[in-house]
Amino acid sequence: MVNNWPIIDHLFGASCPLCAVPGAAICPACHANLPFNRHACRRCALPLPREAPPASLCAACLRDPPGFDAVTAPLLYTHPVDDLVARLKYRHELFVGRILADVLSGFVNTGRDMPDVLVPVAASANRLRSRGFNQAAEIARHLGKQCRLPVASDLLRRRDSAHTQRGLGRRARRGNIRGVFECRQQPPGHVALVDDVMTTGATANEASRVLRRAGATRIDVWVVARTPEPG
Ligand SMILES: [Zn+2]
Ligand SMILES: [Zn+2]
Repeated sequence: MVNNWPIIDHLFGASCPLCAVPGAAICPACHANLPFNRHACRRCALPLPREAPPASLCAACLRDPPGFDAVTAPLLYTHPVDDLVARLKYRHELFVGRILADVLSGFVNTGRDMPDVLVPVAASANRLRSRGFNQAAEIARHLGKQCRLPVASDLLRRRDSAHTQRGLGRRARRGNIRGVFECRQQPPGHVALVDDVMTTGATANEASRVLRRAGATRIDVWVVARTPEPG
């Protein structure tokens, strides 16, 4: 006989998503073992070598400063964070979105210097149709509640780009994504862009460029996890 209770627990998120002990969040033991992104570029949150002085900038930010002001990315996009993100994105385990927002909220919900609005990185209409939801909007929705901030889910519109960003390097990604976002209203001055993962930063950079042109004066980027540089 099949016992359905674990499935129901799973659906409602009544257990740690990593080890399944009862509870509504990542349990303390699993939380302590998460791959935190402790030593990172102060602008783009790229993980830096241990020997880099604290609050350093990475080579890319020194050479070519990005369009956003600062990135908060508490976790590294490695095991088990990659699994959690995949469960949200591809298996539609929506409670994982709330759990990831909880982790991020612990780092951004400081009460000081908070943005006027949260703007999830938009998904294209085709992507929304095929996936059924936008994981960035899902994370932003929970973060908005936790931080008591408004969420402007419709501020950015994203056209379908001809090619996926997957497998492209930093420069190719920047070219590929140019012009895909449109800002539909004037944003308030201080915006936090929200997404699940930052890979090269090309998407956040392009969205920031569009928001700034539309009137935003400060753009923070809040993502759950940052991909370490390949190699
Ligand atoms: Zn656990
Ligand atoms: Zn950087």
